[in-house]
Amino acid sequence: MAHMLVVGSVAFDTLHIGGKEHRRVLGGSATYASLAASHFAPVQLVGVVGRDFPDSAIQMLRSHKVDLAGLEVVDGETFHWECRYADDLSSRETIRTDLNVFASFSPKIPQSFRNAQYVMLGNIDPVLQMQVLDQIEKPKLVIADTMNLWIDIKRAELGQLLRRVDMLVVNDEEARQLSKVTNLVKAAGILQEMGPRTVIIKKGEHGAMLFDGEELFCLPALPLHDVVDPTGAGDTFAGALLGYLAGKDAQSGAALRRAVVCGSVVASYCVAGVGPSRLATVTKEDLHHRFGQFHRLVNFHGDTLD
Ligand code: AMP
Repeated sequence: MAHMLVVGSVAFDTLHIGGKEHRRVLGGSATYASLAASHFAPVQLVGVVGRDFPDSAIQMLRSHKVDLAGLEVVDGETFHWECRYADDLSSRETIRTDLNVFASFSPKIPQSFRNAQYVMLGNIDPVLQMQVLDQIEKPKLVIADTMNLWIDIKRAELGQLLRRVDMLVVNDEEARQLSKVTNLVKAAGILQEMGPRTVIIKKGEHGAMLFDGEELFCLPALPLHDVVDPTGAGDTFAGALLGYLAGKDAQSGAALRRAVVCGSVVASYCVAGVGPSRLATVTKEDLHHRFGQFHRLVNFHGDTLD
C-alpha cells in the first residue's frame, strides 16, 4: 500500500440549498478528497487554514488518519466560498470567494511527504499546483483537478501544468471550455494531447467517462432517491479514485476502471448530507454494499449478442 498526498483548499463554505442557508460548513477540495481517499490509503494533506479553524475539524480529519503535518495554520481567516444551488441541484452559482489565508499561500511540502508516489493536485491555482510538483521527488501518478476560474484567468499556466500530470479530472463544462470543442470525445482527445495520458470527464448525475490512452470506459452515476447537497462530490470522486490506486499501488487499465467505480461509490454518499457530514461517517460496509449495487446496475450478463 502506498501513501497518497493531497494538496487543495480547506475551507468554510456557505451553501444556499432549497431556500435554506448553511453557514460555516467545513469544505474545500483537500478536505473532501482526503476524507474520501482515507478509506483506501493513508493520506497526507497539504493546505492552509486560519486561526479560526476549529479543533473539532482537525480532530475529525485526524480520526480518519489524515496526516496533517502539511496543514499550515497562519494568522488570518480560513478560505471561504459561498454558492447557491438551483432548485433541481443540477447547477450552482458562486456568490463569493474570499481567498483569505489562501491569498499568500505558498505550499511547503514537509520532508516526510516528499517521496509521495500518488499525488492529487486538488483544485487550486495551477501555479501553486506546479510548486507542489517541484517539491515531490519522483511521483508514480499525478492527478490534477481544476475549475472554470483557472481556465479563464490562468490558461497558459494550466497548459504548463498539464504537461506534467498523468491524469486530469474535469467536469463536462470544464472539458469543453479547456478544449474549445463541444463533443466530449473530441474534447478528451484534445486534453490528452495537452499532456495527461488519462482524462476523466465527470458528468454529475450522468456519471463519468474515462479516457485512458485509446481505451474508453463509461460508468453511470447510481440513480439516487435523495440528493441533499452535491458540494464536494467532484473532489470526493477524484480523492477516492486516487486513494484506491494508491491503496492497491496499481495503475493497470483494470485498476483504473475499478477506481472510477470507487470514486462513484464514495461520491454517492457525499451528496447524501450537507457538506462532508455523510462522507465523514461512511463505513467499509457502506462501501461494499454500494459497490455491489453498482455491479448490479451495469451488469448485463455476457459479452455476446446471442
Ligand atoms: P466541488 O463541489 O467538488 O466542485 O468542490 C466544492 C469545494 O471546492 C468547496 O468545498 C469549496 O470550498 C471549494 N472551492 C470552491 N472554489 C474554489 C477555489 N477557487 N479554489 C479552491 N477551492 C475552491
